[in-house]
Amino acid sequence: MTVVELTQKLLAFNTINPPGNEAPPARFLADMLIERGFAVQLRPLGKGRFNLVARKGPGLRAPLCFSGHLDTVPLGLRSWTVDPFGGAIDGDRLYGRGSTDMKGAVAAFVLAAIEECAPGAPDKDLMLLITAGEETGSDGARALVQSQTIESPQILIIAEPTSNRVLLGHKGALWLRLLFDGLTAHGSMPEQGRNAVVAAAAAVAALTTYDFATQAHPALATPTLNIGTFHGGINVNSVPDLAEIGVDIRSIPGMDHAQVRAEIASLLGSKARIEVDIDLPPVWTSPDTPAAELVNAAVTAITGDRQDVAGAAYFTDASVFTPAFGNAPTFILGPGEATMAHKTDEFVLISRLEQAVNIFREIIRRF
Ligand SMILES: [Zn+2]
Repeated sequence: MTVVELTQKLLAFNTINPPGNEAPPARFLADMLIERGFAVQLRPLGKGRFNLVARKGPGLRAPLCFSGHLDTVPLGLRSWTVDPFGGAIDGDRLYGRGSTDMKGAVAAFVLAAIEECAPGAPDKDLMLLITAGEETGSDGARALVQSQTIESPQILIIAEPTSNRVLLGHKGALWLRLLFDGLTAHGSMPEQGRNAVVAAAAAVAALTTYDFATQAHPALATPTLNIGTFHGGINVNSVPDLAEIGVDIRSIPGMDHAQVRAEIASLLGSKARIEVDIDLPPVWTSPDTPAAELVNAAVTAITGDRQDVAGAAYFTDASVFTPAFGNAPTFILGPGEATMAHKTDEFVLISRLEQAVNIFREIIRRF
């Protein structure tokens, strides 16, 4: 089966999350890997959902691990000009929801692993972690880590879309919900109440001046803070007694999320209650490590491009896996186009898919 055919096969399964329904494609891949001699576990993640863990090799050393997710985001409000599950091809483009993010990448590393583990090939220690529930906050990866039954790999490759360039890590994410309590009263007598929206608005103003006081990271630049949501009040003729702000902080290596949270708490004073929705650390692997040299050299050998010291602003399952794996050297590397993720008429370039198979095979050979 070619990488295009396998990608089309995976695209035909609707794995829009929610609800995900990753079990059918996970079973399909499991059958394929079992037939090629991989030890495969399908681990349930609620109804109709599996994480897939596959292992090959003598088990003499910690494995090289490739990871990707099978769920996709919804189709969005704009209508598609192609069937999102049809796998249509136009020139170098293969269309479908999840083609770039990231069923094409899963197809590429599954085929690379199968081809490099064909009978007679040198026995490499390989692991594949194919997760469910990534798009709603790495639920599948978290379940795998919490099971404490996944061995730490020597190298972890998260095949999210990078146009086949090596990213050495990504920012972390700290999502806070700030809740402001007031005292309700009739809108004609506001002096008898305490207005939660006004308190929240003052907090927004204070947060826009918050200084992270960090030095810029050479690849990940500076941390950011976005106020993504603001809710308060039920009807115009009442004093609102509850308001809520959603804050999305993206952090860089060296930052301590607990400290950021404490600073924001002291900036806002006793008026705000803080709840943490997501707390995922940044991930970074130094370009000087042997693992980075191996991965960079393998990619350059196939593409001819020298690899920059670069990282991503978005986060991946690595935020869950990498700390649990003793900060194993981690790379984000996949055939998808980062600009195409989550878009209407999402596509992946067929030339990049084929190149990714060769890149992943080269990494396995050099491992
Ligand atoms: Zn993704």
